[in-house]
Amino acid sequence: MTGRLEGKAAIITGGASGIGAAMVKRFAEEGASLISTDIQIELGQKVADEAGALFVEQDVSSEAGWQAVIAKAQSEFGRLDILVNNAGIVAAKSIEEIDLESWHHLLDINLTGVMLGCQNAIKAMKQNPGGSSGSIINIASTSAFAALPGDVTYTASKSAVRMLTRSVAVHCAQQGLNIRCNNIVPGGTHTGIIDAAKEVVPDIYDRVAAMSPTNRMGEGADMAGAAVYLASEDAAFVTGSDLLVDGGMLAVHPGY
Ligand code: NAD
Repeated sequence: MTGRLEGKAAIITGGASGIGAAMVKRFAEEGASLISTDIQIELGQKVADEAGALFVEQDVSSEAGWQAVIAKAQSEFGRLDILVNNAGIVAAKSIEEIDLESWHHLLDINLTGVMLGCQNAIKAMKQNPGGSSGSIINIASTSAFAALPGDVTYTASKSAVRMLTRSVAVHCAQQGLNIRCNNIVPGGTHTGIIDAAKEVVPDIYDRVAAMSPTNRMGEGADMAGAAVYLASEDAAFVTGSDLLVDGGMLAVHPGY
């Protein structure tokens, strides 16, 4: 434990598995007081217990759910310093395959959930003792820069999150609020989302690794390290940015 987040109160959504679980562990190690939320109750509770975090069941697409989680953070910690909007799903359907129900379901979680998180976190961060302060971290994707034709909804949602973040960042700065908002842009990362594709694409790990010039997949810990930086005072002048954590995937010329 190095204490980079000592004295800070955080909420991490989608904390039961993958990137979110790695962030819960690392944030706790760095001294943050934190609430992990997820729709997977048993696993979410287990991960939180192991880290010494609180767990709250939350569907990020529910406005009432957000109000309850924020209220819990304020009553437990007396403040909210960090929100990581991490929960997300994939649909794995192209423009010709997608149905309206799946489209709305994914956007409710990946986009509306992030908007509701930002909106409610700002309200809470404005009430922090000593004046407004906070860091909101949204998890975008390399698909916000280069399309995944096999998942039109995911691509659309992450592109929208990327610009939502900038809109939030500029709004807060222009309102004189000491609240920053940034994107983490993970490359292919070894989590349940990739595991789910293994049935359809057996060599998915090799394929995803090969997309990066480092020829490896990202790990949850890679994303957690980036989140600690954006959450900490080291990033005090960083807002509206995209932090690429993709092993150089987007740096490669498409002709190579
Ligand atoms: P994951 O499936 O392991 O974790 C996602 C978590 O979100 C799960 O615990 C799930 O239960 C939770 N969740 C799903 N719907 C929810 C809802 N409605 N409310 C609350 N929680 C919900 O996958 P992951 O790879 O760790 O994904 C985390 C984030 O990283 C996602 O936003 C994803 O789009 C993004 N991302 C992942 C990759 C990758 O390669 N793994 C790449 C780029 C971006």
